[in-house]
Amino acid sequence: MDPFTYTARPARIVFGSGTLARVGDEVERLGCRRALVLSTPQQQGDAEHLRDRLGAACVGIFPGAVMHTPVEVTERALATVRETGADCLVALGGGSTTGLGKALALRTDLPQVVVPTTYAGSEATPILGETAGGRKVTQRSPKVLPEVVVYDVDLTLTLPAPLSVTSGINAIAHAVEALYAHDGNPVVSRLAEDGIAALARALPLIVAEPGHPGARSDALYGAWLCGTCLGSVAMGLHHKLCHVLGGTFDLPHAETHTVVLPHAVAYNAAAAPGAVARVARALGRGDDAAALGLFDLARRLGAPTSLRDIGMPESGIDRAVELATAEPYPNPRAIDSEGIRTLIEAAFSGLAPLPPSSSGI
Ligand code: NAD
Repeated sequence: MDPFTYTARPARIVFGSGTLARVGDEVERLGCRRALVLSTPQQQGDAEHLRDRLGAACVGIFPGAVMHTPVEVTERALATVRETGADCLVALGGGSTTGLGKALALRTDLPQVVVPTTYAGSEATPILGETAGGRKVTQRSPKVLPEVVVYDVDLTLTLPAPLSVTSGINAIAHAVEALYAHDGNPVVSRLAEDGIAALARALPLIVAEPGHPGARSDALYGAWLCGTCLGSVAMGLHHKLCHVLGGTFDLPHAETHTVVLPHAVAYNAAAAPGAVARVARALGRGDDAAALGLFDLARRLGAPTSLRDIGMPESGIDRAVELATAEPYPNPRAIDSEGIRTLIEAAFSGLAPLPPSSSGI
């Protein structure tokens, strides 16, 4: 066994079907009595439903969460925290709502209960990305790690199939990069492999039958494992590319991950053969077919496979290469401009990823 360092993140996980009914007990368990429920405008109805369930333990809702956690929205939510005298935050939704809860926790130290409804995995990380003046800045702090996560499979039944697929592949991306992380460890690698396998198994079933209870349960379980990977070890080239592309061209988060992932894996394949073989096995493919397996999964399930199709302008390729090669994240294969240009051009056009033998090392 190689030497390693592993940091366990303190969080309580409640997983199952119908677990929304347990949010009130979890609030009480934290010693709180004045919860503020957060959501996006689209999920306001769900937030109101939770408010009604919590009864006197809920002092209000703030249904204003939006993508990328803009500080202006956080300021408005902070005013609601003060007006209501809230003593804890309950975030019901995807990564955008969880992000708002984390931003409030950073500023107030209030405890958080998160009820995730997508597979993004933010609830399992001490990471917060915030946007100010059009610029997204990411930080890690134990202050933003939610105290409790209540996974209720029933709430994911309404996640539309296309968003389920891209959100699920977004989760897989966390696990893929954890397998070749410079600070990886055997515990996280085990979670990563199981997380990829659970999602790869579940997503085709969800596309065929969005209400499939077993598949929804597997996918949410996989999302937790993959989110735990993201929160535990360093992410590499794939996440760097997605931050650059998403931030520079305002591309949709989960779709960007879906398009880029096979190409990032192809780029790294020869430099991290053991990790990439584990990804391939988790996908049920031969050892050298990870990149193609991920590309096929997305294509088969009707997800976007080209950056062009999700809104990136062709004129942006030069800028993307420049930004992606500046201040690179730690990555198994060294970052070179020519290789990154080839990668971005292939992802832009929706080409199948290059096989490992032609990936340039
Ligand atoms: P999202 O939270 O923006 O949700 C997308 C849309 O789907 C929203 O309108 C939402 O209301 C709706 N929705 C969510 N769940 C639904 C459901 N079950 N049924 C119907 N509609 C539903 O999308 P996301 O991909 O979950 O989150 C993306 C954001 O999270 C990005 O800003 C990203 O940077 C951030 N993120 C952060 C971390 C972290 O660790 N800090 C990790 C992953 C993602």
